[in-house]
Amino acid sequence: MNSKHDKKTDQTKSNLLTRGDFLARAGGAMLATAAATASCLGGQSTITMRHKWKGRNDSNVKRWDVITIGNLSRNRYWGESDARGVRAAICTCTLITGKDFRVLVDPSLADGADMARELDRRTGIKPRDITAIFVTHQHGDHLAGIAHFPDSKWLAAPAVAEIINKSGTLPCLVEGAADRLLDSIDMIPTPGHTDTHHSLHFDCDGLSIVVAGDSVATRDFFRERRGYYNAVDFELSARTMDKLAAMADIVVPGHDNHFLVDCVA
Ligand SMILES: [Zn+2]
Repeated sequence: MNSKHDKKTDQTKSNLLTRGDFLARAGGAMLATAAATASCLGGQSTITMRHKWKGRNDSNVKRWDVITIGNLSRNRYWGESDARGVRAAICTCTLITGKDFRVLVDPSLADGADMARELDRRTGIKPRDITAIFVTHQHGDHLAGIAHFPDSKWLAAPAVAEIINKSGTLPCLVEGAADRLLDSIDMIPTPGHTDTHHSLHFDCDGLSIVVAGDSVATRDFFRERRGYYNAVDFELSARTMDKLAAMADIVVPGHDNHFLVDCVA
């Protein structure tokens, strides 16, 4: 009686793919495209589909999470002039978690309730659970929320700590950090944005990750190897970004979401 309808239903059913079917078909199509590309490039039939990542698997860092995704006050890649800010900036704030530590890089939010809410929203932990705060450089937007972590160690590269402590703007002193934090995270000099700027490098899940602070403003600035408008040395900024491109799989920039280096470099 309903043969027309039933036929249509059957056709619809046969068009439905399970996730496994879909992946098998998509993979087959990708391989076919790759093989065609190889034959265009001279007939090489052996294609390595696996990407070579730069990180180690045996890291003490178990996971990392972006807490706030930053933005710039002015962004030339959005058609905005460097001459004046058009919005409030916040920096990208990142949590690095190991078996027995949690390091929060560049606490970004000046309001204590906002900072605690974002930390909870992204990770479910409380400010008192943070082992150490690390600040990449002395600009105010990168330490806006530090006072809301009175139970944590406050760390920065020794030269950065000296500048911050001399300014007298914080209720407690920032300690000069060693080159390796908690036997798990390397502090690396990344000058150009400021003379004394330092970033953090670690491996996690076989990936090499750099939490760059403002040595990389955003993905677009990295692609162009351009320092932000207030960089102290643009040439040095570009060389620092070249160094990061060579060592990192993923960069977490100072005012943008994280990105895969090989998709941008
Ligand atoms: Zn800065």
